[in-house]
Amino acid sequence: MGGRTHDPGKNPLRLLPSGSDRVGEEPVRSPTSHLSYRASRSTSQAGLARGVASGINKFRPKDTPLRPIPPSRPNVYTGSPLDRASERRDDEAFIAAAFAAPHSRFLPVWRAKSLVRGMAESQPEAVYLTGETASRLRAADAAWAFLGFQDKTPVFAIDLSDFEDPLPLLRGTLGELTDIRATAGLLPRDDAAILAHARGLMHWRSRHRFCGVCGGTCRPRSAGNAMVCTVCNTQHFPRTDPAVIMLVTTGEAALLGHSTRFPNSTMYSTLAGFVEPGESLEEAVAREVFEEAGIRTGRVFYHSSQPWPFPASIMLGFHAEALTTDITIDLTELADARWFTRAQIRNPADHGFQLPRADSIARRLIEDWLEEA
Ligand SMILES: [Zn+2]
Repeated sequence: MGGRTHDPGKNPLRLLPSGSDRVGEEPVRSPTSHLSYRASRSTSQAGLARGVASGINKFRPKDTPLRPIPPSRPNVYTGSPLDRASERRDDEAFIAAAFAAPHSRFLPVWRAKSLVRGMAESQPEAVYLTGETASRLRAADAAWAFLGFQDKTPVFAIDLSDFEDPLPLLRGTLGELTDIRATAGLLPRDDAAILAHARGLMHWRSRHRFCGVCGGTCRPRSAGNAMVCTVCNTQHFPRTDPAVIMLVTTGEAALLGHSTRFPNSTMYSTLAGFVEPGESLEEAVAREVFEEAGIRTGRVFYHSSQPWPFPASIMLGFHAEALTTDITIDLTELADARWFTRAQIRNPADHGFQLPRADSIARRLIEDWLEEA
């Protein structure tokens, strides 16, 4: 039972996109077929054997009014210092000169990896290529895009994914090609934001080489920030898929789920899911929470957002008020879901579980709620 359509092997780094749903991961989300897959079990059977005190899943929703909880600090991957200078993108003479300028900076992307140095020392930072290495990249006939100005210096992303081995192009460079999520939030804030931008844009480019309308070949325009079909002239613009991520609470307890995608982990995280066409963010919160955990929610309060271009999402973070507390999980998404008290969440190791990654908005939603007590 519980047809598990998710292949954990698709995410070998086991890097959670902050929520329990398949948000932001490849391949594209699986179809929701809950009617055929849905199964339920009560938390009294499912969850309590693993060291969490019994009884906490039995309380009633609290009347304690839920108030907006402000973000305590910026989310990782926000705060880019780049001036995107979108008004310069269609100035072809300017872009050509900037592309050729020896001081312009290039950020290579290779199959979802970015060039980073200092990993061994746990002091990762982005590697910006200029000079001779940049000349080799310019000559590589690879997809590229103008990202903007960093202190008046043009910055470009360039996609080397077509090269089986990009290292000859990068020779003489100190650094390694790394999934930036593997830096565990240790990248300087500026670098994290710029590398995420480069990666997301290059991913979009790689997935829009052909027109979705007529199947014709697309070519870049606006300095690589748009594509246009050479046959039907349709313009295609970068896509960002909105996903809601929410901490559902009632009084002193919060709902956290353990994803089926991480069977070897003890991580419990907030619920999350993609916004569907014709749906408001508030409706998406209510639908996802009910689908995944069987909980009805009332008011929702926006907290903050986080770019999550892994490959193409933005996480929209909320706190949501529970109207019911009996949990019925969707086994295609969750292996377990429970109510945890603030005291338990403050000491997860003592209660046999882990919180989500430090660089995730999920963690921020949880920590800020704890601080509200
Ligand atoms: Zn077309």
